[in-house]
Amino acid sequence: MVTVKPPIVVKEFAVEIGLKPFKLISELMEMGIFSSMNQLIDEEVAVKIAERHGFLLEVIHRGEEKPPEPKKKEVEVDQSQFQEPRPPVVCILGHVDHGKTTLLDHIRKANVVANEIGGITQHIGAYQVEHGEHKITFLDTPGHAAFSKMRERGAHVTDLAILVVAADDGFMPQTDEALKFAEQSGDPLIVAINKIDSKGANIDRVKTQMQERNIAPEDWGGETIAVEVSALKGENIEGLLEMINLQSEVMELKASPKGPASGTIIESLMEVGRGPTATVIVQQGTLKVGDAIICGTCYAKVRAMMDDSGKNVKQALPSMPVSIHGWSSTPDSGGEFQVVKNEKTAKQIAEERTIELKRVVPTDDEEEQKPATIETLFEAIAQTRKRVFKLVVKCDVHGSTEAVIDILGSIKSDKIDLEVITAEVGGISKQDVDLASTSDAAIIGFNVRLESGVAPIAKHGGVKIMQFNIIYEMVDKVKEAMADLLDPDLIENTVGSAEVRQVFPVGRTMVAGCLVSDGRINRDARARVLRKSEEIFDGKISMLKRFKEDVKEVRNGYECGVQIADFGNFEEGDVIECYEMEKKRASL
Ligand code: GDP
Repeated sequence: MVTVKPPIVVKEFAVEIGLKPFKLISELMEMGIFSSMNQLIDEEVAVKIAERHGFLLEVIHRGEEKPPEPKKKEVEVDQSQFQEPRPPVVCILGHVDHGKTTLLDHIRKANVVANEIGGITQHIGAYQVEHGEHKITFLDTPGHAAFSKMRERGAHVTDLAILVVAADDGFMPQTDEALKFAEQSGDPLIVAINKIDSKGANIDRVKTQMQERNIAPEDWGGETIAVEVSALKGENIEGLLEMINLQSEVMELKASPKGPASGTIIESLMEVGRGPTATVIVQQGTLKVGDAIICGTCYAKVRAMMDDSGKNVKQALPSMPVSIHGWSSTPDSGGEFQVVKNEKTAKQIAEERTIELKRVVPTDDEEEQKPATIETLFEAIAQTRKRVFKLVVKCDVHGSTEAVIDILGSIKSDKIDLEVITAEVGGISKQDVDLASTSDAAIIGFNVRLESGVAPIAKHGGVKIMQFNIIYEMVDKVKEAMADLLDPDLIENTVGSAEVRQVFPVGRTMVAGCLVSDGRINRDARARVLRKSEEIFDGKISMLKRFKEDVKEVRNGYECGVQIADFGNFEEGDVIECYEMEKKRASL
């Protein structure tokens, strides 16, 4: 039961019935009513919409009493009327190299849904396997960046997180990061203790670490399910799947397969010859061929849907991932999609949203109108002095592009700025090299290849291309490349010292007869002269002799003759300190 008082405004009413305002606008549109955020809705229309979402709407007019709340039970029965059990959606998290990919590969190979056998495995961002009587959906893009991106968008597509911990390595920084993500999302956790076959495996250590993190395993009196597996050897993977099924039974995951579908975009990409493609997971309703769907400002008419074995399917039930092409543009991963009445409606909504977005996002002109202050002036001067590391980014899928941009954006430095000129999906092409060359930028490829003939052009044009498939490696290398643009830090290394024992005049200058007392004296190094511990000269060694012979180096305990360029004023008892300047990559 929802109670409202007229006037009923779109924006406020949407909140009352738990809908996003855009969703409400699109539903109104389906009913032939075109409205914006702040417009009013007729009472009858509001009642109809509320009914659709399982609410009874009571409109209280001025002077009327608020009606009593209905018994809670009635509402619950109404809500759960069409709900049916659905497969869990599982994501695999954990530290790099702890075996996430191996685990995902093994599960997929060993447990493809029966009727898919013979199909060609397709990487669409998620897949479904069958275990016993039940299906399980796995997101097959392990990686925290993708996961956190989705969470950031508020998408909650996963039901369960598997935290992979290698038994030979234990909890590592990314394991803790993953644990934090899982805890924030509220998803129950299953710890897969992997690599139990490896020599250094120490299962008890992992369990102790779990205990230290307040996720003690069940067999140690805690509540967290821990399953010991070897993804490589395929040991006890069935046990892990069993636990996933058990856990999801406890969770009583349900969704209604009735009605128009809604769900989340898992990943999207620009496919050669096919245009914008996106994998979606249906969360409510059934998605059917012929449906028109909208996600943000993108829309598509579903002409065909492909499952993870590359087969065309006519419909997708809750928790089922399918890939759809024919989008107007690539929708954002983590974005919510809804089925609307028809393609025309979808297009209309998309256009309206585009206009709405333009209205709320300040334009560059507005930015420029900010009044100038002394502070902004200084800031501007400092900005122009700062160096800029420019990048052209190319990625395999839309989801990675966003993750890469996000991660790059997190690299901060007072001395150098990082600027992504463009970020697109696709291989590294000649055009990318041209763009990088004219803008003095480097190219980053994430999970993509160089198109043929690109390498020599880049080499010729002096364009640096960096390719990665691990996000953390990318961060390190980008930091290094940024630091390389800065002047190196100079670090002084002491080479040795010598005591001046005698002083000989030679021509117009002086030669110091010394005994090397520490380290060595090197002819190519710099030297400073200390008198009573105070520096009186700093220069380059111009001559180093042992007896009458020129030498490159004289070591500790030996005598030598030293001359320093532009210095002829040695005294007995002076100390010659020899040092080298080492160039080190600047810190950011
Ligand atoms: P990810 O970075 O977490 O996706 O890790 P990968 O799946 O790429 O695995 C990293 C390395 O660990 C690979 O060389 C795998 O062969 C190895 N590996 C994965 N699982 C196991 C396992 O159960 N036992 C052993 N001994 N090695 C494994």
